[in-house]
Parts: sequence; structure tokens; C-alpha cells
Amino acid sequence: MRTIFHLDLDAFFVSVERIIDPTLEGKPVIVGADPKQGRGVISACSYEARRYGLHSAMPIKMAYRLCPNGIYLHGHYQEYCRYSEAVKNILCRYAPVIEQASIDEFYMDFTGCEKLYGSFFMYASFLQKTIWKELSLPSSVGIGSNKTIAKIASDCMKPKGITYVIPGMEEEFLRRMPVETIPGVGKVTLRDLNAKGFYKIGDIAKAPLQYFSSCFGQCGTDLWEKAHGRGIEFLSPGHDRKSISKEHTYGQDVIDRKIIEQTLFNLVSKVCQGLRDEGLQTSTIGIKLRYTDFITLTRAKTIRPTSDDKEVYETVLQLFRKNHTRRVAVRLIGVHLSKLEEFSEQEFIFEDEKIRRKKMFQAVDSLRAKYGYASINVGVAQPSKNA
Ligand SMILES: [Mg+2]
Repeated sequence: MRTIFHLDLDAFFVSVERIIDPTLEGKPVIVGADPKQGRGVISACSYEARRYGLHSAMPIKMAYRLCPNGIYLHGHYQEYCRYSEAVKNILCRYAPVIEQASIDEFYMDFTGCEKLYGSFFMYASFLQKTIWKELSLPSSVGIGSNKTIAKIASDCMKPKGITYVIPGMEEEFLRRMPVETIPGVGKVTLRDLNAKGFYKIGDIAKAPLQYFSSCFGQCGTDLWEKAHGRGIEFLSPGHDRKSISKEHTYGQDVIDRKIIEQTLFNLVSKVCQGLRDEGLQTSTIGIKLRYTDFITLTRAKTIRPTSDDKEVYETVLQLFRKNHTRRVAVRLIGVHLSKLEEFSEQEFIFEDEKIRRKKMFQAVDSLRAKYGYASINVGVAQPSKNA
């Protein structure tokens, strides 16, 4: 039996903003798009703001209507990364195996450590207190026999909560929870589940596997397993990031291709820098395109692993030109990199050019770290316009 911890920082972006500006304490704080512009969504909001019905991913316009007296901030994203790294460093001191799932979420495997630490509950409390003492960041911890249970548990007692699901009690723990509590059940799956009469996780667990998987296919089988309290028990510390993406919502919808391609160029520079910062390369490159009428399409292409702006931009441009077919203004554009793996110089030992470019980008990245992102722009020849 494994023992997995899931540590989730509470209202992370807001907590960091409160370290930067302590007068924000106790107030409804919203990090995200500019409400005056009226486009975009909430990235994070404080518990005080949630009392007005606000939640992350809510359109900023709606948030402003519900909570006009809230404090709206753009956010200090570099600070978030810095604090995230600091939390990881603390956890690395105590956890034998750690997997960072997102900027504010960490899985740790403490299997077999119970004797060492007295009780898991006490240990979770110790980690929480250490992060609070050293960084003033509140967090919640879930403890369970697999990743799914630990993640659901960490959300049960927020903020500053600890939930330990005793081994063997997983099914009972989940039984009365709504099906959308299971990570990965989005709007579409939820609608399908509800349409077939599945509202509580217990409803799924009661259904015969054969019936359930014939309704929902392979993801049905996974869901059914999760409803029985089973899930992934092993962490993959080397591959903490599954994807990197960046999106841009225009203040005013854009019809000019040149402007959109420039935006794509900027997005590519940023995601590729993120990639190199983590020593990763990508092989699946995707774009997201949303028109003014909200019709949205995503397209992806797989190429040889790379972390090079030029290669990524060429693919992005190809995808964009092939799929931007409607004569309708564009509202949002995004770049998505997935199939991430660690960069190994070995593979390209004979490709001097690749190594040379990688070294150049390392220099660019360190300049940017020192003088700010806008201090340097990497010149990538833009392929001719009517390609
Ligand atoms: Mg969080």
C-alpha cells in the first residue's frame, strides 16, 4: 500500500500578492484580466472574493458585475514562479520522491516513512507549518493510497486543511461526492454522466463495469476504477510538466494576419523560454484559434523533439496559415507544447548547429533573467507572407 501526499497551495497567486502588499489581507482580491477591458478571465481569487460567487476561469466581466469593489490585479507571474520554486525546495528537503503537478501543486511519495515520522498526519502538519514559517504561504494537504485520492482529499478542507483517507476507506470517502469531483471530469463528461443518471461517485461504483465502459469507452473504465478509489500509485518526478501553453486574448478582435502572426511569434518565444528553463524539449506543437463568434479550433502537429524558437515558430505558422480559413476577426490565439521530455545533448552530438543555437538561447535566457523579458528579442526570419 502506497502513501501519497498532495500538497496544494491555497489561493496561491493571491497569497503571493499579499506577501508583496500586506494591505490586501482580508480583502476580495482578484488576479486576472483587466475588468475595464472586459476580456479574459480570473486566474485566481481570494476566499473573500469567492463569497461573492467568484471562481477561477470566470469571465472577468461577470466577476466585475458580482464584485465591483474587489481589488483587481494583473499579477506578478515571475514572483509566482519564484515562490513555487522555493516551496519545491522546502519539500525536497523532506520528501524522498516529489512530482510537481502544476505551479502550486506537488505530489510526494512517503510510502514506508510512517515509522520515521511518527504519523502521516503530523508530518503533513509539519510540512504546512514549515512552508508557512519560511514563506508565509498557506497550503492544504491530502493523504491517500494513490494520486487521485490524495488530490481529492487536499481539496476537502481548504484553506490550511489536512485530510487523511485511511487505506481501505477510499470508496466510502468518495461515495457521496458529485461525479465532477474526480479530476478530469469536465463539462462534457459531466453532462454525459448526468444524462445517464450518474450524479454521485457512488452511482458509478455501483454500475457494472461492462455496462459503464460500453457507455463511456476507455475513459469509462478509468473513471470506474477511480470511483472504486483506485488510481495511479507511482510518481514520475522527471516529467513534472505535461505541457506548456500561452494564450493571448485581444482587447479588440483582430482581422489582420500580420498582427496575429506577430502575437504567435511572441507566444512562441515565451513558451520556448519556459521549455528551456526546465531543460525540456517538445515534439507536439499545437495552436488554438478562437474567432469573434467564439468558434474555436485547436490543431497540433508532431515534429522531432526541439526547444528551438525557430522550429517551433515555423510549425506554428504552418498550422495557423492552414487553419485560419474564415474571414472573421480573431478573439484569442494560443500556442501549446506537449509531449515534453528532458533535453539530451547526446542525441544531437553531431548536430553542431543545434548545440550552437541552444547555447545562444541559454545566453538569451540569462540576459532576460537579468534585465527582463523585453530586453532582448531573438530574430527569427519570418517565412514569406503568402507561403
Ligand atoms: Mg492551489
